[in-house]
Amino acid sequence: MMARVGVFFHPSFKGKPWPIIGDKFRSFPEVLSRLIEEGKAVLIEPRPAPDELLLKVHSEELLKDVKGRWYYEGASLSVGGCVEASVKVWRGELSSALVFSVAAGHHAGRNYAWGGTYLSCFGPAVERLLEEGASKVAILDTDSHHGDGDREILSGNSSVLHVCFCSTDRVEEGGLKVDVNVGWRTTDDEYLRKVELEFIRRAYAFEPDIILHFLGHDTCQGDYGDRGLTPSFYPRLVELVKSCADDICGGRYVIVTGGGSRADVAEVIFPAAVEILASPRRAVLEARRREAEGELE
Ligand SMILES: [Zn+2]
Ligand SMILES: [Zn+2]
Repeated sequence: MMARVGVFFHPSFKGKPWPIIGDKFRSFPEVLSRLIEEGKAVLIEPRPAPDELLLKVHSEELLKDVKGRWYYEGASLSVGGCVEASVKVWRGELSSALVFSVAAGHHAGRNYAWGGTYLSCFGPAVERLLEEGASKVAILDTDSHHGDGDREILSGNSSVLHVCFCSTDRVEEGGLKVDVNVGWRTTDDEYLRKVELEFIRRAYAFEPDIILHFLGHDTCQGDYGDRGLTPSFYPRLVELVKSCADDICGGRYVIVTGGGSRADVAEVIFPAAVEILASPRRAVLEARRREAEGELE
């Protein structure tokens, strides 16, 4: 049987006022039920991340502090989902994955964490992927804010390309650690062009084994990190990255939900993302060609 798209969601992710993002997953996983019934995706309940793995990227002080917070369980389940998704996609047990995340993400460094994310998702995932035999991991961060925690944890790691779209232009470690200033008033087309130029182009040269994507939608109009993007931007972004993953790393692509508090946007873009992840390579390319032809008319 063909490997399917994994959707990692825990029932405890809904009905709680998660820091920064609130209860934006209140209608999940129900809004994904058609895709799951059609067999396009498989719903997987994540398990907590083990302490020994968390301690590979965080200090004991940080872990002790976060364990005392009400959101610890959600954060740990989010990291657990991200790690399991990455390993299963790497092994080919899943074709790709969408990982729901609360209280965990890109602002968690070795000894500090803030901004709604109190444990690192990608630090532990990279640790496990390298243990599993992967040699190169490409990370794309399109949340509105700079992924400071991820950058701190991954800095100096030559197995990782980390490209973060935020508010600064910076190229470090010979082009392996990159920030791109997207400005506060951009457009869907302009942002996508920057992703092509600064991430897709670098990813083709880097030839990763897998792509991990922190897909915040706080960049959407009316959200707390508003950069002027419309809801239709996000499926186009996923299509672009998926076709790159299909070309360079066997389609191995893991999306982690990042910032953004608009539940209405989440309810549209995440089902669309799963639909795109589940579509065969050719369908994505044809959709892009039709779009390009449409633009010429
Ligand atoms: Zn953000
Ligand atoms: Zn950045």
